[in-house]
Amino acid sequence: MDTSRRDFLTGAATVAGIAASGDVAHAEDHHQELPSDVALRVKSLESLLVEKGIVDSAALDALVDAYEHKIGPRNGARVVARAWVDPAYKQRLLANGTAAIAELGYGGSNGVDLRVLENSATVHNLVVCTLCSCYIWAILGLPPVWYKSAPYRSRAIIDPRGVLSEFGTVLPENVEVRVWDSTAEQRYLVLPEPPAGTEGLSEEALAALVTRDAMIGVAKVTPPQTGGRG
Ligand code: FE
Repeated sequence: MDTSRRDFLTGAATVAGIAASGDVAHAEDHHQELPSDVALRVKSLESLLVEKGIVDSAALDALVDAYEHKIGPRNGARVVARAWVDPAYKQRLLANGTAAIAELGYGGSNGVDLRVLENSATVHNLVVCTLCSCYIWAILGLPPVWYKSAPYRSRAIIDPRGVLSEFGTVLPENVEVRVWDSTAEQRYLVLPEPPAGTEGLSEEALAALVTRDAMIGVAKVTPPQTGGRG
């Protein structure tokens, strides 16, 4: 092998090495809860099912899309908006989340208790699952990647204000921060405060303002136009 070829190969290996270690760092930052082994197995199963004609890959994409964009978090947003416009519904929602959410036609799995936590001028609720990634799927859809990450899961408990500030949510010292640890049986939905200046809006317009992050508790709902953060 001539020198230039060896240099080229060494260079290529170095570049590949850097790229690989970069990927590992990225994976540790953001994807720690999704081992590549699991991802590969899922992908293999999908390929096999499609190849055997058992499932249609377009149908699978539609299913994923439904969970990502349709089932959630719009269902949760409708629950929140209803609570904002209907005080009696809000009462029922806070008293028995599972039953009140079922009134709107949404439900969790059997045996899962859905509890709704109200944010106010003095209390801010934040939801986490320290053990794994328990989430209120039925009304929020798929959990965001950061929700499943080890840094969020540990820091939400140790330093909730720090985590909140990274999401752009800086709370006054007099606001009490309550952190709720989800389990397989107990899931939480944050009922955010309605933003100022939205009193005349319709339920539908209000629902459009409610974000997934606000229902996890890492963000507040911002008024129309002035809020640009997504
Ligand atoms: Fe979990």
